[in-house]
Amino acid sequence: MKVVGHFINGETCTPKGRMQDVHNPATGQAEKLVLLASSQTVNDAVISAQSAFPEWRNTPVSKRARIMFAFKNLLEAHSEEIIALIGAEHGKISHDAAGELQRGIENVEFACAAPQLLKGEHSKNVGPGIDSWSEFQPLGVVAGITPFNFPAMVPLWMFPLALVCGNTFVLKPSERDPSCAIFLAKLLKEAGLPDGVFNVVNGDKEAVDSLLDNERVKAISFVGSTPIAEYIYTRANAAGKRCQALGGAKNHAIVMPDADVDNAVNQLLGAAFGSSGERCMALSVVVAVGNEVADRLVDKLQTAMLGLKVGAFDEASNDFGPVITAQHKDKVEGYITSAEQQGAQIVVDGRQISVAGYEDGFFVGATLIDHVLPQMSSYQAEIFGPVLQVIRVESMQDAMQLIDDHEYGNGTCIFTRDGEAARFFSDNIQVGMVGINVPLPVPVSYHSFGGWKRSLFGDLHAYGPDGVRFYTKRKTITQRWPSSGVREGVSFSFPS
Ligand code: NAD
Repeated sequence: MKVVGHFINGETCTPKGRMQDVHNPATGQAEKLVLLASSQTVNDAVISAQSAFPEWRNTPVSKRARIMFAFKNLLEAHSEEIIALIGAEHGKISHDAAGELQRGIENVEFACAAPQLLKGEHSKNVGPGIDSWSEFQPLGVVAGITPFNFPAMVPLWMFPLALVCGNTFVLKPSERDPSCAIFLAKLLKEAGLPDGVFNVVNGDKEAVDSLLDNERVKAISFVGSTPIAEYIYTRANAAGKRCQALGGAKNHAIVMPDADVDNAVNQLLGAAFGSSGERCMALSVVVAVGNEVADRLVDKLQTAMLGLKVGAFDEASNDFGPVITAQHKDKVEGYITSAEQQGAQIVVDGRQISVAGYEDGFFVGATLIDHVLPQMSSYQAEIFGPVLQVIRVESMQDAMQLIDDHEYGNGTCIFTRDGEAARFFSDNIQVGMVGINVPLPVPVSYHSFGGWKRSLFGDLHAYGPDGVRFYTKRKTITQRWPSSGVREGVSFSFPS
């Protein structure tokens, strides 16, 4: 069976050690093995990154950007291979994987602007004959730890920007879909990146803890579930590292009585069931304001869901694929059962579906649950599956209160024709990314991505302007070159 190893100092390597199966979620079969790095292997990767840092830091920023530009071209040239790798290990449909890759490439495009982004700030004559400027210096070795659900895009949120800022990088991708990261590393090398600047270690908790404990690692970017994000953030901070840790989500869409319900239904289908609901921005709860709109919405959703097609990634007419593992399938179905037992109404039931030719795949069908209440566990938890729940409330204030009371605050959306209501909502809701008639308000690459409350630990969001700040430290230099003949006396007061 093929073994997916690591990429250290410009080479793939497969040292002896622990391994884990990598499944194809559509067939349900283990088709590869992934090596789980020991702390020794992680240390090798960090030392390789540390050794490459001095020269990379001093490489002109325009040259760093040129390599990133070549990388972008290679990503486009090899897009079909990347999409196939994502499909075979994650299971998402090829058009969905293409969308993920495109959003990732946009982050590479943003990173190509590094010469402009790193120009710093300059002030002349802050005092007589004194100039002052701030520059943004790289941190050193930085690490990225990423989730299974975007094996290309989330790593691309991190390392292109970190690299053009002059850092060297160690990526620890999800052990459930590890091949994409190795492929990206090979493309970076082909683009001209010097050996050691970018390294990949595959692995599990042992690899993550080794990165957290390694004092050469100066910063950690993490994306994954909230309990692990909190753990990473706490432990990285205790070790004196800079850390941004993005966690889980429960994203609500408010549907107001005046909304265009047909449009809302169309938008909700993609936002709730696309990628089998395994997106941190998936809309998993509809909050319908008033029973009249709720009834129409549920009725139209039920009809529209009959047309959804579930299947394997390489059949482009499918709408979404399997979930990631057999355990995850059980977990998602368990939440549907719990909602039923706690009194909610299962309108469309995706449990126990079978896909012809893929009977052992980890498929869950699109599920719609009505009359969900806030105290139900299916509402409180992030299900991360193709499950859309409907909560009925009486007013927009009730809907906003519900959203604000939830532990997560990643994304949200309002469907309305009322500009005043939309403005009030976006201004006041306690959520980091807000859509107005836009169901998946994922910021473009030149803004930054991040949730509020327990969806993000840290001060800076991912990529965009916040990404530049995260991967650099500010140094401010104040300079005077006394001209001959001008000598000032000694001053003991604070400079003003
Ligand atoms: P996960 O938390 O299980 O794993 C994420 C990473 O942490 C992986 O690399 C994994 O190897 C590592 N990890 C897992 N358990 C660990 C442990 N005990 N100690 C140390 N490291 C550990 O997340 P996942 O299941 O891969 O991804 C899905 C989750 O990610 C969802 O909660 C989703 O909302 C979240 N997510 C969030 C965003 C965001 O931007 N906020 C984006 C994508 C995914």
